[in-house]
Amino acid sequence: MQTSETQVAELVRKILEEMQVSPPSEAIDGIFATIDDAVEAAVAAQKALLALTLEKRGEIIELIRARVLDSNERLSRLAVSETHLGRVEDKIRENILCCKKTPGIEDIRPLALSGDNGMMLLEYAPVGVIGALTPITNPTGTFINNTISMVAAGNAVVFNCHPSAKETSKQMLLLLHQAIVDAGGPPGLVGMVAEPTLDSANALVSHPKINMLVATGGKAVVDVVLRSGKKAIGAGAGNPPCLVDETANLRRAANCIVNGASVNNNIFCICEKEVIVVQEVADVLTKFMEETGRAYQLSPEEAQKVTDLVVVDGHINGKYIGRDVQVILKDAGIIVNDACRLAFFHAEKDHPLVWIEQMMPILPMVTVKTVQEGIRFGVEVEKGNRHTAIMHSTNIDNLTAFARAVQTTIFVKNAPCYAGIGLGGEGHTSFTIAGPTGEGLTSARTFTRQRRCVLAESFRII
Ligand code: NAD
Repeated sequence: MQTSETQVAELVRKILEEMQVSPPSEAIDGIFATIDDAVEAAVAAQKALLALTLEKRGEIIELIRARVLDSNERLSRLAVSETHLGRVEDKIRENILCCKKTPGIEDIRPLALSGDNGMMLLEYAPVGVIGALTPITNPTGTFINNTISMVAAGNAVVFNCHPSAKETSKQMLLLLHQAIVDAGGPPGLVGMVAEPTLDSANALVSHPKINMLVATGGKAVVDVVLRSGKKAIGAGAGNPPCLVDETANLRRAANCIVNGASVNNNIFCICEKEVIVVQEVADVLTKFMEETGRAYQLSPEEAQKVTDLVVVDGHINGKYIGRDVQVILKDAGIIVNDACRLAFFHAEKDHPLVWIEQMMPILPMVTVKTVQEGIRFGVEVEKGNRHTAIMHSTNIDNLTAFARAVQTTIFVKNAPCYAGIGLGGEGHTSFTIAGPTGEGLTSARTFTRQRRCVLAESFRII
């Protein structure tokens, strides 16, 4: 039987009435004046969502995917024009990835076990209302990915986006909200404030009706949610090393590095942030990278000029984060053609760009004598972020040794970094990669609490 929108709205109203929860006073579109308003609406909406069938929840997720894909180009352009970070064509790919490879309700399929003592059922229950803090680097991808995961798990979510990605986030939120309502879901299930600030972030973090916090961003915001006293998931910064040993397929490695380190102008947290190459193959790797026609090798003098421009007092000059390589190099007096996506240079081990997460298409390459030295150095520059590492090698022992030593959440072998989030690699995608708190590539199941039910002695059919 088909349920009309009016019937669903009536059902939601009745449920709220029975629960003595007052529906939001005005028609809402998901954008609220205060965190308190957004959270109150989310509490009511989450209860209403639970009263709907799982099938309906699945339909909501499917309509979210379809609507985002329809508006992908507009949102991608808006994100780049507002934040000045990344590349439109890569944002489009990012959003497609999030729509297609973020798991939906299938991720919370229950587990049933039976044995001599009867049956056990494990179900993944929602946590309630989630507060999600999102980064400037992926205002669209994080919203899409978090919404699908959190709603599929039966939760409501209130976002606090980076203030400098406010307009994109609002447009994204409006679209997600409308898709939910049009699919027969409750209004207010996703929400944000019209003016996100650090104060609104703190109001969200400390709100008593927020059941779980999710921070996607740098160390500071991860620390804030971890100190909150609530259940918190921290998806923090990375500085992914990319190690190339003497056994690697160097042509392939060169291609992968250029593609990975330049994707979205290197603003993804997973992007190759420094290459570590064994001396004996450094020249060939360099040559092959140049031969891609998409990477420019900076001379030592040019590398110094670029470094002086992009590193100020030991910090990255925000003006250059996520910008096209042409824009950055032009300010250093270097002109490269339009096909170029990346600049790289040979660096000493102590070069600041080896250690700082640069998030721009300027890639240092450090030479080491042996793969063992490379592994040790890779572990050091990863700095315990537990984020991502990449290695190009055909020696299984070397690959295993680095993977074991570096202890990252994502370890990519012989592919660009983004294979690790499902783009040209197996597995689902996530734009909230929880290294610090250990949930890994988050999905619907991450945003649940487990409940067990046992039935003793009976119910088996064998
Ligand atoms: P950021 O840490 O500056 O901001 C992230 C969010 O946290 C924003 O909404 C911001 O307003 C908020 N925030 C920052 N400091 C806060 C504080 N003290 N109190 C409350 N809220 C605070 O990060 P960014 O520049 O927006 O994004 C880039 C960073 O995010 C990079 O370090 C990148 O590696 C990381 N990142 C990680 C992942 C992941 O999945 N692990 C994904 C994307 C980005």
